[in-house]
Amino acid sequence: MNDIKPIFSECSEPLYIAGPCSAESRNQLLTTARDIAAAGVKVLRAGVWKPRTKPGSFEGIGREALAWLREAKEEYGLSVITEVATPEHLEYALEAGVDGVWIGARTTTNPFATQQVADALRGVDTAVIVKNPVIPDVDLWVGAIERIYNSGVRRIAAVHRGFGTHQTSQYRNAPHWSVPIELHRRIPALQILSDPSHIGGRRDLVAQLSQQALNLGFSGLMIECHNCPEEALSDAAQQITPATLRDIIGSLKLRRTPVESNVLGDYRAHIDSIDSRIIELLAERMDVAREIGRYKQQHAMAVVQHDRYNELLESAEARAEFMGLSRSFINQIYSAVHEESVRQQLEIEKK
Ligand code: PEP
Ligand code: MN
Repeated sequence: MNDIKPIFSECSEPLYIAGPCSAESRNQLLTTARDIAAAGVKVLRAGVWKPRTKPGSFEGIGREALAWLREAKEEYGLSVITEVATPEHLEYALEAGVDGVWIGARTTTNPFATQQVADALRGVDTAVIVKNPVIPDVDLWVGAIERIYNSGVRRIAAVHRGFGTHQTSQYRNAPHWSVPIELHRRIPALQILSDPSHIGGRRDLVAQLSQQALNLGFSGLMIECHNCPEEALSDAAQQITPATLRDIIGSLKLRRTPVESNVLGDYRAHIDSIDSRIIELLAERMDVAREIGRYKQQHAMAVVQHDRYNELLESAEARAEFMGLSRSFINQIYSAVHEESVRQQLEIEKK
């Protein structure tokens, strides 16, 4: 798939896509579009059909809202994109003159649904963005991209929007950075954007998640932005105003030296990917520690079991030495890990 092209070649990188979770009214969409364009963003996103977790939630205005996207495009010179989940959505969206579509996380998770959209894309020249599947399965993500590619579309990008999780964490969707990094390794020509809004689920996390994505070498960002976020009919907690969007874009530090042109970049990308794995493993380890904490609490057992800790330390040090690492280095790391584990187990005791 090395002939995949940038989705909007007229836009420089980082590519910023912004707009409301949902197009709610003509006034909401056009006001937001105007202010987003003034912030320098060239691509407007807006959901017309919304996949909602629970029935009864706002499921989007539907076809009627496509006319507002068209107006935003004509009035402010923006490229406009929307989510499609069925061939019918695609037909209506293309008819309304959208410049691209995205396949949502839930659709990417379902190969039947993705294939139906891919079949309907045959012979169509449009930009297609494939959001990651809800589960952190890189093969499923690559498979969805392949389905679109096999239909003949070449302007394809991916959006990393985090992965569903049952674990309690500060994020709405766990980032699992190693997954998009692996996707990039497998399809280097693909632009990968990050969606800090759906990862964080909270507007105060958007800036830091955006910077983290750019630090890791992502090609751009898709950010939810609403003229009046508190009143949004979907995803209210994570949307930011166009003014905040402008501030965030203005404060992002760009890393302009292309990774391909420099050996250091390659090493760093590798290190970043390893570090992501380490962090994910530590998070997983803490989840297990908390489970153990709950078990100990239920069985009236003390949190710290010294024999167990000494055994663990001795075996970790021996293994580390065998791998060419110093015992004291591993000792320091394990002390920190163990301390955190104990702290987390004590938190459970307090609840
Ligand atoms: C969205 O972009 O508003 C959306 C529904 O995204 P996702 O498919 O990532 O949940
Ligand atoms: Mn949303």
